[in-house]
Amino acid sequence: MKKTILFIFFILPFLSSAQEFGRADSLRGYLSEFRNCYDVNYYHLNISVKPSDKFIEGYSEIHFDVLSDFKTFQIDLFENMNIKEIQFEGRQQSFSREINAVFVTLDREVKEGENVFVRVYYDGHPKVALYPPWDGGFSWEKDDSGLDWVGVSCQGLGASSWWPNKDHQSDEPDSMLISCQVPAALQCISNGNLIFHDLRKSTKHYNTFHWFVSYPINNYDVTLNIGNYVHISDKYISHQDTLDLDYYVLSYNEEKAKKHFEQVKPMLKCFEEFFGPYPFWEDGYALVETPYLGMEHQSAIAYGNGFKEGYFGSLGYTAGLTFDYIIIHESGHEWWGNSITANDIADMWIQETFCTYSEVLYVECMYGYDTMIKYVENQMARAKNKHPIVGIPDVHHKGSNDMYVKGSSMLHTLRNLIENDSLWFDIIKSMTNEFKHQTIDGRDVLNYINDKSGRNFDKFFEQYLYHSKLPQLEYKLEGYGKRKSLKYRWNAIEGYDIPIKVTTAKNEYNWIHPSSEWQELEINIWSRDFKIARHLFLVDVKNLE
Ligand SMILES: [Zn+2]
Repeated sequence: MKKTILFIFFILPFLSSAQEFGRADSLRGYLSEFRNCYDVNYYHLNISVKPSDKFIEGYSEIHFDVLSDFKTFQIDLFENMNIKEIQFEGRQQSFSREINAVFVTLDREVKEGENVFVRVYYDGHPKVALYPPWDGGFSWEKDDSGLDWVGVSCQGLGASSWWPNKDHQSDEPDSMLISCQVPAALQCISNGNLIFHDLRKSTKHYNTFHWFVSYPINNYDVTLNIGNYVHISDKYISHQDTLDLDYYVLSYNEEKAKKHFEQVKPMLKCFEEFFGPYPFWEDGYALVETPYLGMEHQSAIAYGNGFKEGYFGSLGYTAGLTFDYIIIHESGHEWWGNSITANDIADMWIQETFCTYSEVLYVECMYGYDTMIKYVENQMARAKNKHPIVGIPDVHHKGSNDMYVKGSSMLHTLRNLIENDSLWFDIIKSMTNEFKHQTIDGRDVLNYINDKSGRNFDKFFEQYLYHSKLPQLEYKLEGYGKRKSLKYRWNAIEGYDIPIKVTTAKNEYNWIHPSSEWQELEINIWSRDFKIARHLFLVDVKNLE
């Protein structure tokens, strides 16, 4: 018995740190020849949703450019979903399935430069969300009036859990049409603009809603919100134009929502100042009330924070500030996550790090610099430093949750290393514009910052993104009275030579340039007044006295 317990204790840490990947992960995460041979430019998802049976059926039309001649290619749909038929040029095609991948073999070879489409008819009971949005799928709920209230969240899980598509973040369609049929008395709210709806009076019939997305969209951003919604319409006047604001909330929450969503306009003003214009202007900005906490669904942000302050009423995440965390965070994703998307989820930090940093910029914009520092200190305290921020590419593996607060604190540290706010804000804004409506690699971001700042931060990024531990500043303060000798060095990755500020006299911060070798500096300070600028730089510190 004892032996067994010992065995478990030894094996658990090993299992949790070692990653095991298999065929399913490669099918999902790797861009093989069966995926690289085509580029999706349009989807038409046409589905009917039956809440009473937790059932969906319809088709997905996948339009693509042929990049190299082929007959067989891969699309994705979870194995629990049934494919009824795949059509190409009016003819039924053959296909085979392997785990969640579908290999379609066309009855003629398609040639480079052609633009063609297949239509995949399917149905089934999609995965039910267990703990949305983290363990997502369909949420089949009832509102307080007992009416059906349905939502879909599938980041990480995959859009292929409920509709056929090329389920890899590197390939977004340029536009998309979502046609959604729901029982009469309910509405279906999706992404983009409602271009047409067909409402039937009789409860025997289904209502059909057609939503058009006129920009590139992540697969996991595509969503349905089905319920008895009221529509609150508003306008945001920006420098360049007027943006439509659309709020869809359950009918009995209308008054509450009108008041609570007043924070949207000042937020958009702040974000536009730092990141440039709202990136999906023609599609409008929208919040849709959902039975789960939230998700950055493009131009239809899922809102489930209960019209409360902070994070579902708790102010721990917001450092005591009373803004609605979900509105601010999920809206930040419209720039970082939706407009700019990581090619591989190993680089998901691009989306979460910059989005979590957008909270910091929002706080600075609304509450001032000193409050912003307190907000970042709260983020810094929540970094775990147990696993790297960057995940493993090609196997659908994301890095640790440190991509949120540690990543954001890393950007705050970088701002202070650059020590030139006009340059820093220019980097942030111009980069957001440079990569607008694109999917990119982490390396693209790092190169951009290096180029624009005229410095090389590779060692800095390597330490913070690819290693779990923070750089640790080891120091000793020797001597008597105010005449002190400061000895210091980095305990960090090889070659780490990033400077940091310490007080060399009371309240006087100056740069030191530690390396792995001990260095010494004479300073004039009482021990009690000596400080390392940890409000500006996220580092670990070890006093060796
Ligand atoms: Zn996020």
